[in-house]
Amino acid sequence: MIIIMLGAPGTGKGTVAGILSEKLGIPQVSTGDIFRKNIKEETELGKIAEEYISKGKLVPDNITIEIVKDRLNEKDVENGVILDGFPRTLGQAEELEKILIKDNKKVDMVINLTTPEEEIIERVSNRRVCSNQDCKAVYNVVLNPPKEEGICDKCGSHLVKREDDNPETTKKRIQTYLDLTDPLIEYYTNKGNLFTEVVSKNTKLGKQVAEDIVSKIKGE
Ligand code: ADP
Ligand code: ZN
Repeated sequence: MIIIMLGAPGTGKGTVAGILSEKLGIPQVSTGDIFRKNIKEETELGKIAEEYISKGKLVPDNITIEIVKDRLNEKDVENGVILDGFPRTLGQAEELEKILIKDNKKVDMVINLTTPEEEIIERVSNRRVCSNQDCKAVYNVVLNPPKEEGICDKCGSHLVKREDDNPETTKKRIQTYLDLTDPLIEYYTNKGNLFTEVVSKNTKLGKQVAEDIVSKIKGE
């Protein structure tokens, strides 16, 4: 099963994707995580990616597509994958379709998460992520705090704030989303596999949204 997570920054793509991955037993592939790992390891890709990410811009399509293409060739994603943060442009979506068609595959489900904009800024500034690259658990110090302040429940590593999770860069990221990623909603609506969920402190948080999606997929 191939699932795509769509949504502006801070809507909970990573959180929902992580739970789906665990419950459905299919790997989560996050382009943001791949870039951050490369930045931390100071690779060539990391150096290029950082220039864009720190400005709230997207890493260019040709670079991003190559990375995803390579990742989708690995054995663990043979039976399915949750793409978290890819595609993010129409060009990427069209390229993905071409990659999948070669293997007689298609995108089965697109989960579009939406959150009121004023809540996004708050969610992003309250977000903390696990510094352990193999864990990458995500917390919110108000809505989903760890049991012990600053420490990951799952692996005990320190929690950190992402460099780009400041209000200024977040505003740019939201604008980038509106300009380049929002058109994908129409693209996938036309394909008939888009499924929208509101993530908000006034309705449901990511965890609940993920549980509901799992039930829906399992037909419960
Ligand atoms: P968020 O959705 O909160 O912005 P991500 O971890 O998905 O977090 O992405 C972080 C940054 O990585 C993005 O702002 C962008 O610069 C870069 N990025 C991630 N995925 C893509 C992609 N598919 N295409 C281009 N850039 C990407
Ligand atoms: Zn952790």
